[in-house]
Amino acid sequence: MDYLDGRIEIMEGDITRLDVDAIVNAANKTLLGGGGVDGAIHKAAGPKLLEETRTLGGARTGEAKITAGYKLSARHVIHAVGPVYHDGKHGEPDLLAGAYRTCLELASQNACATLAFPAISTGVYGYPREPAARIAFRTIIAYVEQHPEIKLVRYVLYGAAALAAHQRVLDQVRME
Ligand code: ADP
Repeated sequence: MDYLDGRIEIMEGDITRLDVDAIVNAANKTLLGGGGVDGAIHKAAGPKLLEETRTLGGARTGEAKITAGYKLSARHVIHAVGPVYHDGKHGEPDLLAGAYRTCLELASQNACATLAFPAISTGVYGYPREPAARIAFRTIIAYVEQHPEIKLVRYVLYGAAALAAHQRVLDQVRME
């Protein structure tokens, strides 16, 4: 499925396999690897990725940092730190939107015209799927509309249920 003249796509798949300029990692504050998509990205990129992230000094929640992609098809990895979800009243929406926005800004600054996002914070960090998807799509659409240098954003879901839920939310957000 694609939206915004084909500039936003949502799909099911393994983000580590995508041939885009940058893939986004749902990292933790240390940027030293972890479980979920973070573990999969480090495994696929090889040990040099960890060597580089060791030099970065971590990142704050709601921020992101960029590295090379090493053995990945993607030239870069953008390591975003989404919020751990408590009850939605601890700044989680702004922090999640900030993580997406920082990734998009880093893509623009590093000439990454095509990028892929996982559903940041919706795994181990426990952010409920629908509200997280609403924030993700609102932030991505607002940015892409203002930034023609971003040619394609692929939003990559793990599993058919996650894909269907995100499609519903994207359809709602497009009508706002
Ligand atoms: P967080 O700690 O930010 O919640 P997780 O890695 O636990 O990050 O999960 C983020 C999302 O990424 C989850 O929805 C999970 O299903 C998904 N995911 C896990 N592995 C992959 C992968 N290889 N490609 C795409 N998405 C993935």
